[in-house]
Amino acid sequence: MIGEDTVLTDEEETYLADAITTLETEVFVDGLGHDHFRALDENDGSREEWQEYVSRMGDAGFNAISVPEAHGGPGGTIIETVLAEQAIGYCGNIVHACQTSLTQHVGRTMYEHGNQHIREAYLEPMAAGDLVVAQAYTEPRSGTDLAHLETDAEKDGDEWVINGEKRFIDFAPYADFYFTPVRTSGDDGDREGVSIIVIDRDTDGIELLQDQSDWHGFRGTGASWMRFDDVRVPEANLVGNEGEAWSYITDELNLEHLTVARYCLGASQQALEIAANYTANREVNERPVSRYQAVNHKVAEMVTKLDGAYLLNTRAARIMDDRGVSAGRMESAMAKWLGNELAHEIADTCIQIMGGIGTTTSYPVEQTQRDVRAGRFMGGATEVMKSVVQHDAYKLLLDEEFDAELVGNEREGLPWLNEDEQPAQIADE
Ligand SMILES: Cc1cc2nc3c(=O)[nH]c(=O)nc-3n(C[C@H](O)[C@H](O)[C@H](O)COP(=O)(O)OP(=O)(O)OC[C@H]3O[C@@H](n4cnc5c(N)ncnc54)[C@H](O)[C@@H]3O)c2cc1C
Repeated sequence: MIGEDTVLTDEEETYLADAITTLETEVFVDGLGHDHFRALDENDGSREEWQEYVSRMGDAGFNAISVPEAHGGPGGTIIETVLAEQAIGYCGNIVHACQTSLTQHVGRTMYEHGNQHIREAYLEPMAAGDLVVAQAYTEPRSGTDLAHLETDAEKDGDEWVINGEKRFIDFAPYADFYFTPVRTSGDDGDREGVSIIVIDRDTDGIELLQDQSDWHGFRGTGASWMRFDDVRVPEANLVGNEGEAWSYITDELNLEHLTVARYCLGASQQALEIAANYTANREVNERPVSRYQAVNHKVAEMVTKLDGAYLLNTRAARIMDDRGVSAGRMESAMAKWLGNELAHEIADTCIQIMGGIGTTTSYPVEQTQRDVRAGRFMGGATEVMKSVVQHDAYKLLLDEEFDAELVGNEREGLPWLNEDEQPAQIADE
């Protein structure tokens, strides 16, 4: 935050400051610094670099933060999880924040629902930084509407046989395993019958059909369109109960809403700091650009909104710490849409007040603007988040006592007041 943060405890503030220091001195150095960020933006990444990144994050205790120590995580909180993601977005690169955020919610799901094999073979090594994870959710004909997924898994003896296609899958060429929702029963669109299966990368029948990483921003993950063709997986790789994964996915998304918003906000804060410094030093008509009120009001608006978005996000994280990751659905959706819309608005406004140089690669602001763009639909589109908010908010807003018959007849009485509270002039008429 830029203003005083009375919502975070002193320990949490220290956690954030320490996380930034650790990332700057132990993670984003020696081959994973700014040159690497640039290379990723040109889609010049490698499996070795991603392995090195997750390994450093494991050593630093940033993978699967809320998973207890007994299962390989550092046993931290959801607040620490979102603070770490903010720190990665702020001083790293947004795709790094994405890889680490996958460990947060995938790790949490494997911890809460996975059998011993899932925990030992995938969760613990992922938390330690020995495995790179990919989340294979989106399909050619099912994105936002995940219940319409067409990838199916059928039981054959003690194996699952998986067929289908997924697209836009970050880390597809680099990951050690794919965390994959499939349909094991039920009809198209049913929430029952969706299961999650963990698929090892080297399993026969997996094909990367198309590299999709040459997109607007968020580059360097090797995002791919992939096919599973009679892919055979041991039955123990099922996460939780067969056909019951819908609730695992919605819980997981509840947490992902916060991490995606938080790392995009962290990145936008870095852009804001660069723009504030640039405009304070760049002179136009012999005075700093920052002295023009039209510009410094923009900065004031960005700072104010950024603080508000952090507060919303922290509030939702606190609810999850208190009541579990399925709690605070409305608050999480609020934090997601507002945070991701704002991150993009801030990065774009920073370019505006910097002028032409803001659009070049001299400063990382233009990359941030491209990178945070996808956050407005990734992990939960703004439109869907607003639908969640309106659904839950109306339950709180609507009052059964509100006298509908008086709507449009307010001269006879005011609908929101009880009979004995009506203003005298109305009651007397
Ligand atoms: C940079 C990037 C990285 C990604 N990484 C991954 C990954 O690692 N793994 C993965 O599985 N997927 C990934 N995705 C895919 C991403 O999750 C999907 O793009 C997202 O879920 C939206 O799905 P879709 O693109 O199919 O859009 P659609 O579902 O076709 O929706 C298109 C648009 O329709 C509108 N819309 C949809 N539903 C509603 C509604 N109910 N109400 C109102 N409007 C609505 C929204 O504006 C939405 O953006 C990534 C995408 C990008 C761009």
